[in-house]
Amino acid sequence: MSQRDNENQADSPKRFQDFFVLTSGAIAILALLFLTGAIGAVEWITGAIVMSAGALAFYVGSAPSQQKPRQAPVLQTATSEDAVRPENSIEPFILALPLPALLIANDGTVTTANTHARNMFRMDVASLPSPMAVLRQPDLLAAAERVSRDGANERVEFTQHGDAEVWMAHVRPGPEAGSVIMVFEDLTAVRRAERARADFLANASHELRTPLTAIGGFIETMRGPAKDDKEAWDGFLEIMGQQTERMKRLVADLLSLSRIEFSEHRAPKNQVEFGELARKASMALDPIAKDAGIKLHFDAPDVSIHAIADDHEIAQVIQNLASNAIKYARSEGEVQILVGVSPTMAEAATACSRQSPDAKRSLLLQPYAAEGAPAVWIRVTDDGEGISENHLPRLGERFYRADESRGGKIEGTGLGLAIVKHIMARHRGGLAVESLEGHGSAFGIWMPRLRENVPTETL
Ligand code: ADP
Repeated sequence: MSQRDNENQADSPKRFQDFFVLTSGAIAILALLFLTGAIGAVEWITGAIVMSAGALAFYVGSAPSQQKPRQAPVLQTATSEDAVRPENSIEPFILALPLPALLIANDGTVTTANTHARNMFRMDVASLPSPMAVLRQPDLLAAAERVSRDGANERVEFTQHGDAEVWMAHVRPGPEAGSVIMVFEDLTAVRRAERARADFLANASHELRTPLTAIGGFIETMRGPAKDDKEAWDGFLEIMGQQTERMKRLVADLLSLSRIEFSEHRAPKNQVEFGELARKASMALDPIAKDAGIKLHFDAPDVSIHAIADDHEIAQVIQNLASNAIKYARSEGEVQILVGVSPTMAEAATACSRQSPDAKRSLLLQPYAAEGAPAVWIRVTDDGEGISENHLPRLGERFYRADESRGGKIEGTGLGLAIVKHIMARHRGGLAVESLEGHGSAFGIWMPRLRENVPTETL
């Protein structure tokens, strides 16, 4: 029942009492006049009816009108105003946002900041600091002031922690005049990916242009100054053939890399016999080793080693590591391809890349697989010049070539180890290098194998 209904009910008995008093008073006065003979019977009755009707009209007329507007209760008005107070209405949204966000009131204080913003700007939870104290970025402060004054939206890109993080601040007018909302978007990964893509395109174009320029130069010479020098043509054609081969290798490596990157997030599904797979892959390298005058040794435990792997990709890993070892081995030197098993991934990491106590090593890919998983590993060792320590951590970056500093005597694309790294990432495995300058290098890969009853160490 409404408050108004209650009031009507409380009014009713009092008005009825008034009506009763008026009517009976009027009748009593008329009766007195009739008894004193002042009026006749007809006048008495007529007067009684008129006065009763008047009292009835008073009764009805004094009833509260149902249409009449009433003032709202003071308490109710205050509550509803409170509920729409702008800073209260925006606060839950700021607190619920999954991005850092804060509200600056028109007096310049930060009145609301969610946990992400507090962590980002290392704000004191208890105090309400001024934006100057919190933001510490001149561009941000200037944008906040402009938005507070002009009410237009702005976006400001800025860096945090030196240049380690890149952020975009979306600055918008807040709900109250002069207030400002700031929401921060982390662009670090996007900018890094953009830079990597730009670097990659620049490197790939440069690598492709070099042989093309050489071929183009020889064509010009053969058409012009050496037009009639047929003897010189043989030499030119040989170099043009080599440059064409280099371009073919580069394009093949780029295609492999892009194919592997594309499938990197899909784990391989097929079960392979690892020892057999590695043996076939290294046999395929025999002719290359023979041509280079290098002795190629292969060893694997005499047991079945089962793993979930992509056989083409694992063969490519062996081929890339072993062909590097053949390329960089000393003349008439030796290259060894060794396959082994270990009870855990952690032990495999040591087994495949920690041979010489004086050697320098670098972990090029941290495996995703659990440390305790049983593992299979391959170590490819050569007896070449080795790689100096400062180059080791960067091996596996696309187009990175350590021997550029040695005059780039040996041909290569700088993509072979990047391909190995991506393949091993797809197999949840690791990649490490160990090198002792003047004595040679060893590259090791390891990955989980299926659990089975095999000896824990090889050979
Ligand atoms: P490339 O086609 O240049 O060999 P990779 O990605 O396979 O490209 O290797 C990158 C660089 O790592 C090589 O340019 C070389 O400097 C160095 N490198 C790789 N393997 C060896 C090795 N076995 N001995 C010495 N240096 C190596």
